[in-house]
Amino acid sequence: MIVVMRREATSEEIQHMVKRVEELGLKAHVITGTERTVIAAVGDKREETRESLESGPGVDEVVPILAPYKVASREVKPESTQVQVLGMKVGAGHLGVMAGPCSVESEEQIVASAHAVKKAGATALRGGAFKPRTSPYAFQGLKEEGLKMLATAREETGLAVVTEVMSPEDVPLVAKYADVLQIGARNMQNYRLLEAVGRTDRAILLKRGASATIDELLLAAEYILNEGNPNVMLCERGIRTFEAHTRFTLPLASVPYLKQKTHLPVVIDPSHGTGHAYLVPDMAAAAVAVGADGLIIEVHPCPEQALSDGYQSLTFEQFEATMKRCQLVANALDIGLG
Ligand code: PEP
Ligand code: MN
Repeated sequence: MIVVMRREATSEEIQHMVKRVEELGLKAHVITGTERTVIAAVGDKREETRESLESGPGVDEVVPILAPYKVASREVKPESTQVQVLGMKVGAGHLGVMAGPCSVESEEQIVASAHAVKKAGATALRGGAFKPRTSPYAFQGLKEEGLKMLATAREETGLAVVTEVMSPEDVPLVAKYADVLQIGARNMQNYRLLEAVGRTDRAILLKRGASATIDELLLAAEYILNEGNPNVMLCERGIRTFEAHTRFTLPLASVPYLKQKTHLPVVIDPSHGTGHAYLVPDMAAAAVAVGADGLIIEVHPCPEQALSDGYQSLTFEQFEATMKRCQLVANALDIGLG
């Protein structure tokens, strides 16, 4: 249920209603909007609860939340959420661009990538230190050594660091170095992991599972939000279909659809979404055109020698050209890049 407070409700009245919601055994999420404050009361649909809350001080109305996800829903928070991390802003009219190699391979590689993507206009550095690989014989990432290299790249460039965490027990270690914790497609429904990152103060990039529906993605986000972490970005990275020409199928309609249903920012990953470097620039520009709030793009100093995903990684020059195209589209739509 949503407890909509009156415009003139005082902070004492809001606090009182939060207490009332909790006394009724429900979870309270306070969402402070520009117009008014609402309290999402999650966990009960009984009429008596609704009536009891409606008679509270400062309450305008109590309405049911129709979507299966609650805190992520636009019904609860009509204004778009903006996630801010160091210099990066994602959402509410700002396009954040996270770029860098699939995997951190050496200090030289990640620092060079950080300088290059920053120069081209990226607002965060991506790089995996813990890699979920289909084959156990493939490169698994440099783990903590890789995290330290990412921290060095951040020190040198000021770019926020986006990196994947694969298991709940690694969350404290990865959160020590990262600014944005990435939940990979393979882990979208690892609920204990979602809860663990929900208890951190780091921003989260939640990738859609390759066979997950959009409602399942939003319900996964709900696990993170429910633990009290509001800084969640959703990432469409392509789904598995019968089509074999691309690695995955990248449904760009997810962007306008998600933006109707949720206030959370939507990020597009054209690298995993296509699996071919030559398709990435077009899909990146198209993502900006359909209203994406962010992009995450794989860029490597020498894609041919990459230890993972080289075939879908852009060179520094290709990334620079891609950014120029995205900037033109962003300008046309009055979207700020940064
Ligand atoms: C990645 O970002 O390198 C990655 C493994 O992504 P996904 O989880 O979307 O496959
Ligand atoms: Mn990758």
